[in-house]
Amino acid sequence: MSSVIVTIVGTAQDAGVPHPNCFCGHCKTAMELPERRRFASSLAVVETNTKQWHLIDATPDLREQLAMIQLKYGWFGQLMESIWLTHAHIGHYPGLMFLGREAIGAKGIPVFCGEKMKHMLENDAPWKQLVALNNIRPQLVQQEQVIELSKQVRITPVEVPHRNEFSETFGFWVEGPSRKLLYIPDIDRWEDWAYDIHDMAKEADICLLDGTFHSIEEIEKMGRNYKEIPHPVITETMDRLQDLVDKTAVYFTHFNHTNPVLDETDPFVKHVLERGFHLAVEGLELPL
Ligand SMILES: [Zn+2]
Ligand SMILES: [Zn+2]
Ligand SMILES: [Zn+2]
Repeated sequence: MSSVIVTIVGTAQDAGVPHPNCFCGHCKTAMELPERRRFASSLAVVETNTKQWHLIDATPDLREQLAMIQLKYGWFGQLMESIWLTHAHIGHYPGLMFLGREAIGAKGIPVFCGEKMKHMLENDAPWKQLVALNNIRPQLVQQEQVIELSKQVRITPVEVPHRNEFSETFGFWVEGPSRKLLYIPDIDRWEDWAYDIHDMAKEADICLLDGTFHSIEEIEKMGRNYKEIPHPVITETMDRLQDLVDKTAVYFTHFNHTNPVLDETDPFVKHVLERGFHLAVEGLELPL
C-alpha cells in the first residue's frame, strides 16, 4: 500500500447522525446502535512512513475522530501536523475548540484556510483566544495555491459556490505519489461552479463528493422544495459522471440524516452501487 492514505473519519452532514432533536427511523436507530452513528464529514491524510497526519475539517466530532486515527495507527497522544478548513459551517470548524486550553492545549497547530475564515478566527471570540494562546496558527491559502505538505503529499484548495455567510468555501485536491483525490463535501450546484465537475472528476483518480441528499423525491418527502436546497442530489451527480465510473472512483459523503443510503438494506444503496458509484464509510482507507 502507498505510504500516503486518506482515511475517512466522518461521512454525515454537519449535524451528524443521529441529528439533534430528530426521531426519524435513521436517527432513532443511530441512538440505539452506536455502529449506525455517523460523524460529520472529515478526512485524515495519513503518511505512514513518516508517521504524520493532517486533518481536513475540524468537526464537532473531532474528539472521536482524533481517537479513531490515534487508535487505528497506534499513534497515541500524537496530534495532527496541520488542519485544513473547507468553510465556516458548524460541521466543519467548531472542533477547533478542543485544541484550546479547556481541552488539549495544543501548541501552534497550523490551520490552513481562506481569507475570510482566517479573519474570523483571528478576530471573533472564542476562536481568537486559540490564536492569542498560540493553540492554532491560521495560515492563509489562496484559490489554486499548491501547498506541499511533505515530499509526498500536496494539497490545493479550489473555491466552490456555497452559502458563504462567514467564509469562502473550499474543496481540496489531495495528491499523493500515485493518485489524486478531489474532496467537495459542500457545494450549492454543479452548474454554478467555475469548473466543470465532469472535467475535474476525469482528472481525479478518486472523488469524494457532496451526497447530502439522494434525490429530489427525498427532499420533497421532507416537505421542502429542491430549489431552496443548496446541494446537488446524488441521482443528478451520477447522471453527470456516469461515463467516468470505470476510470474514477466516485464516492458520496456528507449524508443528511434523511438520506436513504444511510440504511444499507435500502434499495437506493443497491441502486447507487449498481451504477458503479460508492458510498463513503468511516474507517475506509484510500491509498494515494
Ligand atoms: Zn457541511
Ligand atoms: Zn433524523
Ligand atoms: Zn456548508
